Amino acid sequence: MKRFFVNEMESLTSLGFATVILLTMIAAAMALWRLDSWNEEVFGLVSHVTAEAEYTHTMRDVIRKREISIQRMIATDDRFARDEEYVKFSGYAAEYAQARENLENLITSPEIREHYQRVQEAINYTKPFHEQLTEALIHGNMPATDIRALTVEGSKAQQKVVVLLDRLVGMQRERRQQMEEDYHQTRRQILVLTVLVYLASIVIAVMVVRKSTSRYKYVSRLSITDELTGAYNRRYFDMVLEEEWKRSMREYTPVSLVMVDLDLFKSYNDKFGHQMGDVCLYSVTKIISGQLKRAADFIARYGGEEFALVLPNTNAENARLLAERIRRAVEEARIQSANDSVSPWVTISVGVATTTAEFNQPCEVLIKAADQAMYKSKQAGRNRVTDVNLAEVS
Ligand code: GH3
Ligand code: MG
Ligand code: MG
Repeated sequence: MKRFFVNEMESLTSLGFATVILLTMIAAAMALWRLDSWNEEVFGLVSHVTAEAEYTHTMRDVIRKREISIQRMIATDDRFARDEEYVKFSGYAAEYAQARENLENLITSPEIREHYQRVQEAINYTKPFHEQLTEALIHGNMPATDIRALTVEGSKAQQKVVVLLDRLVGMQRERRQQMEEDYHQTRRQILVLTVLVYLASIVIAVMVVRKSTSRYKYVSRLSITDELTGAYNRRYFDMVLEEEWKRSMREYTPVSLVMVDLDLFKSYNDKFGHQMGDVCLYSVTKIISGQLKRAADFIARYGGEEFALVLPNTNAENARLLAERIRRAVEEARIQSANDSVSPWVTISVGVATTTAEFNQPCEVLIKAADQAMYKSKQAGRNRVTDVNLAEVS
């Protein structure tokens, strides 16, 4: 029985602590994994958005340079300078096309793609102005007023592209800020989750400790109790008597031992059956226990129908009075006896021994004296108390 509970307790404790360790490990692993994947994701996105912004800036710069280039071509009358400027102008176009291609390959966000379409449309709108203007400047066959009008229109169209590109840069910035916010939020979530898991671990640990403590108390109680009567068992009696014996020796206080034996109990079993005998034993235990008022008084089942009471710091007179009270209480409980040669009720014979333990004296002296006193009660006709004070005898 005890073994079973001990095993159960051990596995309960191990299971509890294994759960705690597992939970904390899962929490740590989850937090690390989540942070790691987030870091990777965020770094990827940041470099992506940075590249997007870089190409957008290039496109915007090139547009401005082309604008300046056109202004220069208009301003100069020198044909060579104009041709030189035109070479630059064409180079910008190649630079622009390259940045645009790179940007197109990068865009993943649908919103940015949609906005980019608008940029494209605006750019297409500027194209005819550029073409006409460059044509006029190269061949010089357009009146100055027309050229000016064309330049103003082209500039307006160009400005719209720049505004749209600025907006694109703004959108990219917003997207990066959103990512940063998400990142911080995830970090907070991980923190909260980790704290929760740790709290759960602590709760489990406390539960395990409490449960195993209560189990331990139960098992401890079980190992010192007699199952049938609920009194302490013989093993515990030996321990308690030994302890009280040493205390008596140390503190020089009297200790009393009371031996109780049910009278003619064999007949009781024979007449009413063993089961009724058990019930009777239980009832007598309760009656005796009910008479013990001091916290230190102690009752154990010494053998079959025999009980032993240890009364620490109790002199012979008080021990005898208590024994007499117990004897009377059992008789007055009026449990029908099987053999009325002694009494119509179940009775007990009691032996009381009192002494103050001497140095090097074994406690068996007290047991033997109480036993002999009880035997005298039997011989004298049962249902009585015989006491012996060892201090007076020696
Ligand atoms: P005496 O007055 O001389 O003590 O007579 P007695 O019959 O009580 O003494 P004896 O030693 O002859 O018999 C003790 C009986 O107690 C025998 C046994 O069947 C009974 N007994 C011992 N333990 C238990 C128990 O746990 N349950 C029951 N029902 N009976 C028990
Ligand atoms: Mg007996
Ligand atoms: Mg007996």
